[in-house]
Amino acid sequence: PCRATVLGAEDASFRTGPPGVTHGGDVNDVRILGMDDDLRNLKLLEAVLTPRGYDIILAENGQEALTKTCSVLPDLILMDIMMPKMNGLEATKQLKASEKTKFIPIILITALQETTDRIKGIEAGCDDFISKPFDRHELLARIKSLLRIKLLQDKVNEDYEKLLELETLKDSLLHMLIHDLNNPLVSVAGYLQLLQIELENTFTQEQKDDLERALVSSRELKRMLGNLLDINRMEENQIELVRIKTNIAELAKEVVDQMTFISHADKKALSLKISGNIPDVSMDIDIIKRVIANLISNSIKYTPSGESIDVLVSHESDTNNLRVEVKDTGNGIPEEYIDKIFDKFARIESDKTKPGRGLGLTFCKMMIEAHGGKIWVESNPKKGSVFIFTLPCGK
Ligand code: ADP
Repeated sequence: PCRATVLGAEDASFRTGPPGVTHGGDVNDVRILGMDDDLRNLKLLEAVLTPRGYDIILAENGQEALTKTCSVLPDLILMDIMMPKMNGLEATKQLKASEKTKFIPIILITALQETTDRIKGIEAGCDDFISKPFDRHELLARIKSLLRIKLLQDKVNEDYEKLLELETLKDSLLHMLIHDLNNPLVSVAGYLQLLQIELENTFTQEQKDDLERALVSSRELKRMLGNLLDINRMEENQIELVRIKTNIAELAKEVVDQMTFISHADKKALSLKISGNIPDVSMDIDIIKRVIANLISNSIKYTPSGESIDVLVSHESDTNNLRVEVKDTGNGIPEEYIDKIFDKFARIESDKTKPGRGLGLTFCKMMIEAHGGKIWVESNPKKGSVFIFTLPCGK
């Protein structure tokens, strides 16, 4: 990072102290690397800059400049164009190509006035020019202006680094939180299921329904936590599908059976239709079940009472794809949302009062695409929506 803390306001004359620096200011910490193959020019640079409090490092050719820049990391470089071994343009190109040195401002000092040379300098990546013989006031003014920009650039880089650190911290906190919530949730659901079996003959129908509601809610919560965790994992390429050859119609049946209670409690008819022969295909069973559950749960959530939800499973013989459709007769998706609805946190404005975070469909899209499939929605506002996904059957 730049160590230039105070940069003077004016340079009208030589002073013993640095430009515009109040007592205790530390322009002395600013290192400038000056390069010229002519020793007299280097001496001149030193004579102008040292009394202003700048720390000067000298180099006689491009190669030496590169080596010194990498070890000292100056705050600014004054580079002569014509130099032996490696010329100033080549040295500039190499410094601007390196991650370590690309933000160090470079002023090309050149006797060449021609526009083409300046263009070459700009193309090489230099930040400013000054003509030889240079005017010391102009030189100091240009140095100060570039150091000011460098200071801001360093601040931006520092803040960006901090932001990245915070982002990583936030992600690991989120992971921890999800894991910590998940374990007690699994045990709550497990005990509820145990109660369901143990008290099957003792409970009244009303008590059984209450227990079922508690189970449905715990599953819903588990699904939401799982979505969040898997979206994060997928974004970090940390998810590995566990593929097992299975029949998707059976998976759909399991999910529909599990969700029938909730749809009936919500006064919506849920049905499953399997059309034709469905071949077994390798897929991550848990994930595909959760995709189907997310789509059914949405249809239940966004469909008014009295409406119906149909799950259709089929095999497209022309494309050799499995096809699953979750069709409802609810409110539908307004046209302007059709493309956005699968984005992270995307929700239809009028649905924002309902519980949800806009992550369910993001999870579905990521997982179906990870399986090599496609997911989309077809909707007729006021008449309902069909969420469709296809999975390739392979050879
Ligand atoms: P969430 O339901 O948590 O908001 P989703 O990503 O599952 O997140 O859905 C995003 C949005 O898409 C929902 O908020 C809702 O506005 C809309 N949506 C999803 N499914 C349906 C549906 N079957 N009918 C109407 N709107 C839907």
